[in-house]
Amino acid sequence: MPRFVTHLEGAIDGQRLDAEQLHTLHNDRPIWVRYDLRGVGRSLTKDVLKQRPETLWRYRELLPYHHEEQIVSLGERMSPLLACPKLGARLGLRNLSIKDESQLPTGSFKSRGLTMAITMARHFGVKRVALPTAGNAGGAAAAYAARAGMECFVFMPEDTPVINQLECKLYGAHTYRVNGLINDCGRLVREGKSAMDWFDLSTLKEPYRIEGKKTMGLELAEQCGWKLPDVILYPTGGGTGLIGMWKAFQELRELGWLESGTMPRLVAVQSSGCAPIVRAFEQGERFAQPFSNASTVASGIRVPAAVGDFMILDAIRASRGRAVAVDETRIRHWLQLAVASEGIPVCPEAAACVGAAEMLAADGWIGESERVVIFNTGAVQKYVEAMHSDLPTIDCTKPVDWEAIQSQTSI
Ligand SMILES: *Cc1c(COP(=O)(O)O)cnc(C)c1O
Repeated sequence: MPRFVTHLEGAIDGQRLDAEQLHTLHNDRPIWVRYDLRGVGRSLTKDVLKQRPETLWRYRELLPYHHEEQIVSLGERMSPLLACPKLGARLGLRNLSIKDESQLPTGSFKSRGLTMAITMARHFGVKRVALPTAGNAGGAAAAYAARAGMECFVFMPEDTPVINQLECKLYGAHTYRVNGLINDCGRLVREGKSAMDWFDLSTLKEPYRIEGKKTMGLELAEQCGWKLPDVILYPTGGGTGLIGMWKAFQELRELGWLESGTMPRLVAVQSSGCAPIVRAFEQGERFAQPFSNASTVASGIRVPAAVGDFMILDAIRASRGRAVAVDETRIRHWLQLAVASEGIPVCPEAAACVGAAEMLAADGWIGESERVVIFNTGAVQKYVEAMHSDLPTIDCTKPVDWEAIQSQTSI
């Protein structure tokens, strides 16, 4: 299998780094993987691509791994791009789709990043990994570590959704609940490194999770016939997905594969309960200040400080997009609306994007007929706390009042 990685590159200063070594941060900031795109263009065509299996590995020329047999996989299928006419009508959008990442292994798009990170870590001989998590990254890391035969340590805030806590444990990870936020968990992983000798798998602290998440952008482009949508709404925590997608679009443009020169406007969506990127965007800053007292039901975007803040902000601005915060108290409303309108198990993070789409359509920033894509980054079934609802009960020992039940219906 030909491999087209030429080198790695410090994102903060452009310094060239050796791709045949295991890296973490460079000058305390993330690292890009760079490819010989001309070589890729000579060896891969759109027609060849069409004949490959529908998994994220179909883009192998644009991925970092060395050998087919070293891949640590749970069967990462392409996620469907689902038209959402009923939800769109509620929001004032005629061309709304959801890219449904809930169907990926472990029920979230975190599997894209972690299949790649664990594959590469194992290639470099890593036997023990550790990470802080807001929830789904822990589950995915634990699952892929189990698959790879690696030891995994997960540190999560004690109020992380209970399914995330239990799945990590069940996948066999050493799982700890911490009485703090995700940045406190990140500090524990840093501090424990010398005593525990683990490899730090934190978001953006190794180069390969971005490459895995990049496949969301590659897939979207291919599913849209290489004509990218006008607007993408993405629930932004650490930002790996947004950064990775933007990187995918740049690489496709350089390959000459995109049908139109205009890039989608990227919207980073956060909650009013945790909006460090929105604040930096509005203040015209390139780096974000930590957000205090971060709190949101959309646990995946409860990230008060992101090491890739400038990469997120650069991508949003280069795309002529924006960062918006939605009202935390309305996320459950959008959750109910989105899930019931289309039958897609939209997670609270993506529900925040539904709120942002409603807001941006109402103020005219998104045109009614523009092609809009929301990423459903995870399965709502993992959020029992957010799903909680008091259901009516029936006493089956008594006659049922069907008239009262009929009066609750719409047909
Ligand atoms: C991690 C996560 C996010 C945030 O993703 P980033 O790419 O790190 O910004 C959004 N939604 C869900 C469900 C997540 O698990």
